[in-house]
Amino acid sequence: MTFAATAEVVTYFKARPVLIDCEEDTLNLNTDRIQEAITDKTKAIIPVHFAGHPCDLKPIHAIAQAHNLYVIEDAAHALPARYHGKMIGGISDATCFSFYATKNITTGEGGMVTTNNAEWAARMRMMSLHGLSRDAWNRYSAQGSWYYEILSPGFKYNLTDIAAALGLAQLKKCERFWKGREHYAALYHEGFQDLPEVTCPPVASHVQHAWHLYVIQLNVDRLRIGRDEFIRQLQQAGVGCSVHFIPLHLHPYHRERGGYRPEDFPVASRVFERIVSLPLYSKMTEDEVNRVIETVHDLVKSNRR
Ligand SMILES: *Cc1c(COP(=O)(O)O)cnc(C)c1O
Repeated sequence: MTFAATAEVVTYFKARPVLIDCEEDTLNLNTDRIQEAITDKTKAIIPVHFAGHPCDLKPIHAIAQAHNLYVIEDAAHALPARYHGKMIGGISDATCFSFYATKNITTGEGGMVTTNNAEWAARMRMMSLHGLSRDAWNRYSAQGSWYYEILSPGFKYNLTDIAAALGLAQLKKCERFWKGREHYAALYHEGFQDLPEVTCPPVASHVQHAWHLYVIQLNVDRLRIGRDEFIRQLQQAGVGCSVHFIPLHLHPYHRERGGYRPEDFPVASRVFERIVSLPLYSKMTEDEVNRVIETVHDLVKSNRR
């Protein structure tokens, strides 16, 4: 239950992404399913903090340790998020953030990796800019030298200075943006309490949820319409919404490469038919949030079984 990027990066290394089903409530990976997916070829576990709700990292780290695996977090949704008080970004071997236009803070395009491994950090810096050695550069730059060394065939993944400047300004607002999102999530939660047709996203007591997305699950058994028609009617009523995500195993590339069938991931396949991402962004107004809540109520009422 994630975006294309999580698995595609694995294929860049001619490795094979192995998918794991998600939990019914948080839509994070089901940690009970990790063990059975591990083989002697497994290198790393990549948990995705869905919508900004941190995965249960303790069992993930225990399994990783037992099998000598790295943990690389996909924290594209998880800024600012906490797990047992610790900020996401300072826990695993590496944590990847996205600053794409829709994310909690943005640089237009771009992202960030955090790691406590100095060697990896140096390697990432080098590979993000054509594999050029900064050490060589630093050695000579005092004299303003033109000298550099190519140490590896690298990439062009550097964040531009202009994007970084945007990012620094956004970072100062990160907490304020988050407070807005959290407030609106609380309004949604309260607004749907008396609606058995709508299940709100849960929040575990030991986490801080970053509230990148607010994903409700429609109890479609209680409705005369399905999720797609529900979204169509919401949109007709002026409420834009989306679906996060079409599970990876249902996409042609992964379906064919992995030989996956929908029933191989029963939870993801089932919840996919029920999920709707409601509007959530810091610049929303309370009136707008209330209008979304009212519209959902109206639609549920007129489509009840
Ligand atoms: C947005 C996103 C990414 C990566 O986004 P980029 O466009 O590469 O910055 C990765 N994983 C998830 C779950 C995302 O939502």
